[in-house]
Amino acid sequence: MVIRFKPYTRVTLNKETREVLINRPLIDGNVGQIFDLTDIGIEVIEMIGNSSYEDIMSKVSRNNPNSKDEIKEIISFLFNENYIEVLGEVITDPALALYSRIIPLWAELESGGTDRNEIQRRLMTKKIAVIGCGTIGASIIAKLTSMGVQNYVLIDSDVVEETNLTRQPLFSLQDIGNKKTSVLKQFISDRILNAYVKTYDLYVENISDLTIINDVDLIISSGDGPNLDKIVNNYAEQHQKSVCFAAAYNGHNGKVLPLYLPGKSHTIECINNYLQDDNRFTGTHKNMNDFIISTVPYIGEMIGSIATAEIIKFLTGQIEPFLINKVLFVNISKYEVSIVEIPENWKGCSCSYKMVKSI
Ligand SMILES: [Zn+2]
Repeated sequence: MVIRFKPYTRVTLNKETREVLINRPLIDGNVGQIFDLTDIGIEVIEMIGNSSYEDIMSKVSRNNPNSKDEIKEIISFLFNENYIEVLGEVITDPALALYSRIIPLWAELESGGTDRNEIQRRLMTKKIAVIGCGTIGASIIAKLTSMGVQNYVLIDSDVVEETNLTRQPLFSLQDIGNKKTSVLKQFISDRILNAYVKTYDLYVENISDLTIINDVDLIISSGDGPNLDKIVNNYAEQHQKSVCFAAAYNGHNGKVLPLYLPGKSHTIECINNYLQDDNRFTGTHKNMNDFIISTVPYIGEMIGSIATAEIIKFLTGQIEPFLINKVLFVNISKYEVSIVEIPENWKGCSCSYKMVKSI
């Protein structure tokens, strides 16, 4: 039973400096981790990929007396960090062939008996509600569809307008006048096997409108309307649903809101109150009547991508989303990214999170 490095893990050994660079593409940064090596460590690393545990143990300990504990420690560390696996122990399920380039990435997230195939199957069985199928909603749908998510409830009352095309690459000239939900349903069905998409021509105004999504695993709140986020958050609190409050943009600026996870997060109202508290400049809006919020496609795609990364972490169930109680701001003029964290014990908190934390 040969031990090998996990499929997409990059390993560079430098025997002169006695270091090894190991990079897991999903969870490490661009560079990865550099480890100092002893002679024993170098021999172990060199044998991984073409030897069994027993072979490594007997050969390296023969060359280095009294090294068995160290060899064992190195191999355990590599296993625990998800750097190595036993060759042939997990074979990509042929039924998942469409995702054979993604599934090896999940090797980094395997734990507790959940293998890479299971992680992919989890994504494929999740049901997602998208309330608001505009720039951000459609951007997230495109990416989730690419990764195998096949079950959707799409809610929007809008038709495609010509002004949408500058920000919404999934819509075409021939879609103008058609329902956004119908166009996206067609996109998903053209893109994925076994798609199941239900559409509702509905402008959400009341919490009772949301009974149609009582069986979804995640709600994406990406519509406009002054009260939508509040209605969705109230519904989510009552029904213990998780929500991605998609994001907001204006020109070259984007804002990605945290996922709402019941019991783990402040509500969206709390978060918005905190952000307003943070904004020291106050005054009267002088141009509200002719002030239009809009953006360019690359900002919509950028924040749609960041929101999707958080959603995928959540849906796999194997990795904690990063933006819990954290709001990410991005500016593409100067390539600036900043994060504002809402403290657990924020004094202005008016949601049940404070109560949960203080029990
Ligand atoms: Zn709160």
